[in-house]
Amino acid sequence: MLFSSTSLRQIKGVSAQKEQELHAFGIHSAADLLEYYPFRYEDYRIRNLTEVKHGERITIQGAVSSVPVLQRYGARKSRLTCKIMVDRWLVTCIWFNQPFLKDQLTQGRELIVTGKWDQGRMHMTVTGSEFADKASGRTGTLQPVYSVGGSITQKWMRKTIAQALEQFGAMIEEVLPPLLLERHQLMPRREAIMRIHHPEDSEEGRAARKRLVYEELFLFQLKLHAFRKLGRERDDGVAHTIDNATVLELAQRLPFELTDGQKKVINEIIHDMRQPFSMNRLLQGDVGSGKTVVAAIALYAAVRSGYQGALMVPTEILAEQHTRSLQALFEPLGVQVDQLTGGMKERKRRDVLAGLQMGVVDILVGTHALIQEGVDFRALGLVVIDEQHRFGVNQRSILRRKGMHPDVLTMTATPIPRTLAITAFGDMDISTIRERPQGRKPIKTYWVKHSMMERIQGFIRREVAVGRQAYIICPLIEESDKLDVQNAIDLHLEMQQALPELRVGLLHGRMTSAEKEETMRAYSSGETHVLVSTTVIEVGVDVPNATLMIIMDAERFGLSQLHQLRGRVGRSDHQSYCVLVADPKSETGQERMKVMTETDDGFEVARRDLELRGPGDFFGTKQSGLPEFRLADMVSDYGVLETARDDAAELVALPDFWEEAVFARLRERLERDQVMQADRLD
Ligand code: ADP
Ligand code: MG
Repeated sequence: MLFSSTSLRQIKGVSAQKEQELHAFGIHSAADLLEYYPFRYEDYRIRNLTEVKHGERITIQGAVSSVPVLQRYGARKSRLTCKIMVDRWLVTCIWFNQPFLKDQLTQGRELIVTGKWDQGRMHMTVTGSEFADKASGRTGTLQPVYSVGGSITQKWMRKTIAQALEQFGAMIEEVLPPLLLERHQLMPRREAIMRIHHPEDSEEGRAARKRLVYEELFLFQLKLHAFRKLGRERDDGVAHTIDNATVLELAQRLPFELTDGQKKVINEIIHDMRQPFSMNRLLQGDVGSGKTVVAAIALYAAVRSGYQGALMVPTEILAEQHTRSLQALFEPLGVQVDQLTGGMKERKRRDVLAGLQMGVVDILVGTHALIQEGVDFRALGLVVIDEQHRFGVNQRSILRRKGMHPDVLTMTATPIPRTLAITAFGDMDISTIRERPQGRKPIKTYWVKHSMMERIQGFIRREVAVGRQAYIICPLIEESDKLDVQNAIDLHLEMQQALPELRVGLLHGRMTSAEKEETMRAYSSGETHVLVSTTVIEVGVDVPNATLMIIMDAERFGLSQLHQLRGRVGRSDHQSYCVLVADPKSETGQERMKVMTETDDGFEVARRDLELRGPGDFFGTKQSGLPEFRLADMVSDYGVLETARDDAAELVALPDFWEEAVFARLRERLERDQVMQADRLD
């Protein structure tokens, strides 16, 4: 925009001090000020008393028809009462703390008052009044209400924005292509900005808002799509050479047939890997949908094409598990898999790092230590990030900063409702696995009270008697790591006493890596029947023989966490169960338990979670990368968002897209911001 650099000081009435204060509102230029939209309007249109409702805020006009009465109380407080004649009704008007008005309220003088209407008593508590003979021009209009604070008053803001509109309104340029204005019947930009501040009526306010919401969402989507297009036009990534036989060879070694969903996403991934740009793909699939094997195939393809692969996971337990299963799969094929975690011995670590540099290690599994300081690959071609939602920072930008452009596959079991996927992950390509492997039965979920513990123990005995295993989860105690561990230790003891004939294992965050490893090994191999654990097993842990998940104090967990925990069972053909032991006090707590018993579909759980929490909370706002819109609301303007996305995709796909002047400018900006953008968007 031409005047985006026009300083606030050029607006009449904006002092250096006011300019400073506007900065705090994110307003830095005249253009910013014009885009500081009202969040509602105050209705100063004069209403007819026959059509107003009790409790409404209204404006009416009438003539003073009684002697005003002033009551003072305390040093500063007062109450002024006066009757005015509106049509043929006498209305009692009450002003607080404006004693000076008393002398001006002379018999017969026409008065315009705004305030809250008390229907029964024909009273009006006045919030604003003026005399018709000295009216400010606000009467008869909808006045914008802005978010203000500090020394910036509503009145000042109204005046200043009106002033800015007068000085600079004519310079407002269109930013949307005519095609789209026509397609959606949108107001031109200049008109929309004028009208949203000062609409004739609510209809016009709505039309102006509609146009500006569309613009906001469209430009946002356009940026995401253009950013992705730019990424796909680069050729500094790795173009893997993969023949289909390689993929099939590995698929045939698996003890099961891949599901259609798995095959589909493998195709999408391999297709991207062959291209010269760096893949940036998100694989989402419910817990237990079999994402690991998809990652394994992609990693194998990278190795066969002459590169190394890295698999990054959020916990050491998971690193250990993935290392073991990849080794079992790859060793016969001569592919070397190694592991790198924080808790590792220095000597072993040095060996792994050396092997990595020489290219002896083909695939490295580890926690986030894996792509940081001192870890140098000979030829890194693919990075897989498992359980993406557990990583706060943006791993992809770390890679970029290290000057590497490997393909990146991000995996998550927290299905993202479509609304959020479109906004938060708009710059990624998304692959989705909908189904679970054949033969999986829905997990039966029950919600019980603590008093049922004895029956639950009976349930554990029965499952173990037929060869299965169980988990018992006790919640993290936020305030104290120590209490948390103590809690697990106590529960473990209790279970050992209650189930003396069973072997009960214990797992918590304070154990050493070696202890954790041994506990998991014993449980995976079936040596222990029951595992008492804190939430350290929440993500990714795969022991298919476990069929019973008991979650203590389940009301302390969020929905997605409960669903993740439940996902530790239901990983084989055996019927699995989840028991939520909870006495929730709050209504949402009860609602969460209900959702869990009603569905075991992660997409549905996520949808209900979003409903209960709202989009901000859903991701945890800080890491979400969710944009903040001026006008648009992701939930209520969802339809517009979808339209805007389709329009953006359509335009970006045009062959001469970059040639258009507006888009050429966009490209410059995106190229400049690429790293920064990646940071913000991931
Ligand atoms: P997640 O998507 O939660 O990471 P995993 O990759 O851990 O799921 O897979 C869950 C379980 O299902 C594992 O034991 C895995 O071996 C098994 N599995 C994966 N794909 C299939 C399939 N196509 N048929 C049968 N079992 C499968
Ligand atoms: Mg997994």
